[in-house]
This record gives sequence, C-alpha cells and structure tokens, in this order.
Amino acid sequence: MKLLQEKIQAEGIVLSDQVLKVDSFLNHQIDPQLMLAIGKEFVSRFAQDQITKVLTIESSGIAPAIMTAMLLNVPLLFARKQKSLTLQNNVYVEQVHSFTKQVTNEITVSKKFLEEGDKVLIIDDFLAHGEAAFGLAKIVRQAGAEVAGIGIVIEKSFQNGRAKLDDAGFRVESLARIKSLTDGQVRFVEDSAV
Ligand code: 5GP
Repeated sequence: MKLLQEKIQAEGIVLSDQVLKVDSFLNHQIDPQLMLAIGKEFVSRFAQDQITKVLTIESSGIAPAIMTAMLLNVPLLFARKQKSLTLQNNVYVEQVHSFTKQVTNEITVSKKFLEEGDKVLIIDDFLAHGEAAFGLAKIVRQAGAEVAGIGIVIEKSFQNGRAKLDDAGFRVESLARIKSLTDGQVRFVEDSAV
C-alpha cells in the first residue's frame, strides 16, 4: 500500500536492524485518515470472505481493526493482556511471547464474544515472529470458529512470522512488507506497493 509506505519512509524511526518505531501515526499518536485508508484496503482484500468478526490485540491493533470492522459492518473484538483473568473459566487464554519486549503475556478473550460458526479476520499492527497472530488464531480455534485470514499493517518480512503463518496455511495480507532495516534505512519488498 503506497500511502502507508510513504508514511513509513517519512515518519518511521529505525531503532535497530530489528525494530521500527511508528509512534507518530500508529503506536502512540494515531492518524485517523491513514487508519481509514488501511481499513478500506483490508476490506477490499477480504470483502468476499463473509467475515462475521474482526479480532485484534490491545492496544495498537485496535485503530486499524476498528476501521476495518466498521466498513465490514461487524463487531471488533480485542484480546486483552490481563494476567489476573486466568483464574476465571469464562475466557479463552493463550501465551504470547514478545521478542521486542522480552516478556510473555497471557492474552484472553471472553467466551461470550466468539462462537462456533464465526468467520474471523485477525488484524494486527506488526508481524515479526508471528507470536501474536498465532495466539489469536489459537483462540479462534478454541472457540470452534474459523480464521478467514490475517491482515497485517506492517510486516517485517526478514523475520520468520510470515513464513510460519504461510506454512500453517493461513491467508496473510500485509499492507507494507519490509525487506530490511539495516543501515538505518527502511527497504520494502519490491512488489508490495500496490
Ligand atoms: P510477533 O508477535 O509477530 O513476534 O510481534 C508482533 C507484535 O510485536 C506486534 O503486536 C507489535 O506490537 C510488536 N512488534 C514487533 N515488532 C515491532 C516493531 O518493529 N515495531 C513495533 N512498534 N512493534 C513491534
């Protein structure tokens, strides 16, 4: 997605060869017009899939996911990162390790809001090692629902998450695909500016 690539080039900060900071439009301050354009792009890619629910993880997935859900006219559900909920039996729980933050979170979704027969579109801000996406997909499967696809705003294609999701048979649609972050430069996978 060209608009997103331009925004990343203009405002993204390369923190290391592994980590990109985009706090001016996605991870702290949010650009609503860009989020709307992102929502439209996800909808154009998943319009034929009879999605019944959009699922993301708090907090940075919520902005692109709410736009997508609004345009698809379905609810948005977000997984929470609250550890204290695990003693309850009315939630689905999965472990998600964050390589960027070096912590393992338990993510939870209330059983009330996901059910067998749901066709779920998973959305997240970044794809790195695939931990968050796999955790969300496992929750969908715990509910007996179906993962219709996974929509990613920024994929770091040089990390292994994309390959793992492809190998597991998921349909992944990433709006910006980053080939490398070396030398302080963002380089995109060549054919990704559609
Ligand atoms: P994964 O679970 O695929 O390993 O990592 C994805 C999650 O980690 C995303 O939800 C995002 O919050 C965070 N993340 C991973 N890499 C980056 C990065 O380069 N920049 C930012 N801002 N977040 C990242």
